[in-house]
Amino acid sequence: MDAVLTDDVAPTPTPLKLLYPLAVPAALIDGRQLAAVVKRDVAARVRTQTERGRPVRLDAVLAGDDSGATLYAESQARTCAEAGIAYHLHRLDHDASYEDVAGRVLLLNSDEAVSAIMVHLPLPAGVPTERVQSLIAPDKDVEGVNPANIGNVVYGRRSLVPCTALAVMEMIESTGLDLPGKRCLVVGASNIVGKPIAVLLMRAEATVVSTNKYTPDLPALARQADVLVAAAGVAALVGGDWIKPGAVVVDVGINRVKGPDGKTTTVGDVRFAEAREVAGWISPVPGGVGPMTVAMLLRNTVEAAER
Ligand code: NAD
Repeated sequence: MDAVLTDDVAPTPTPLKLLYPLAVPAALIDGRQLAAVVKRDVAARVRTQTERGRPVRLDAVLAGDDSGATLYAESQARTCAEAGIAYHLHRLDHDASYEDVAGRVLLLNSDEAVSAIMVHLPLPAGVPTERVQSLIAPDKDVEGVNPANIGNVVYGRRSLVPCTALAVMEMIESTGLDLPGKRCLVVGASNIVGKPIAVLLMRAEATVVSTNKYTPDLPALARQADVLVAAAGVAALVGGDWIKPGAVVVDVGINRVKGPDGKTTTVGDVRFAEAREVAGWISPVPGGVGPMTVAMLLRNTVEAAER
């Protein structure tokens, strides 16, 4: 007689180690180490610019007192200082209007001493983010958020590319994987993270599947992928049983979760310990895409100055 599964007799999942008995833990894609190399290169290029009498300067606009944005701005000030980049933070009130924010951006656009501009999010309620982003001069837009820069990514033109997408590509390339002919799956398709990553992978002539929260049977699709990029912002979404043995796994997710001890920690979208048993290469959280994204912002800044 066929076995009948009922709700109260759940099947016991096969441990991953038994499914892949010869597996060795994946090699680490160490974002901190890769970022250190990029930062050394940036610092050298900044010195050259400075010697030529064109110091490199990044101006950031922060409206309001969001704690995440404030922390980010503080860490930016430190990393810019390490690379020799002058960092100017423009703080606006929490009730700043569209005209206030837009006015500041336009002022920075026309200031020749300013090499690069970024606008911290979230903006105050009622200030339309995309409208502000589309005002940033494309050649100073170091986060690559102006629609003109996003369009250039699609056309493969030389432009400032969104930093997280650049970070993911550098991390995949650091494994030595040859992308043409490979299947890549991107979990998450936001305008500034998932979509640009998918487009850059397409530009590298990989075969790309872009997925979102409505994608049916995502684990089965994921198991076919030679490269899996997780960018959904859902803690522990991707299990070891989603991963093709030997695949490259890049975890973009940053999720704050409370542990059983009540302490809050930062985790990615991938269940790291079990995924590491199956993948060939894997990036951790923290210490993966985060530090590389910062390094890419610095690189875009010096690139904007060099132009
Ligand atoms: P978002 O909320 O704008 O977009 C999330 C995307 O994931 C959407 O396309 C949504 O459809 C998809 N999604 C949500 N739940 C899903 C599910 N269960 N299965 C499949 N797809 C699902 O988020 P975002 O701004 O793109 O950010 C994504 C994550 O990346 C967040 O955790 C964010 O904190 C992180 N992030 C990290 C960096 C970094 O530097 N490391 C930079 C930016 C964003």
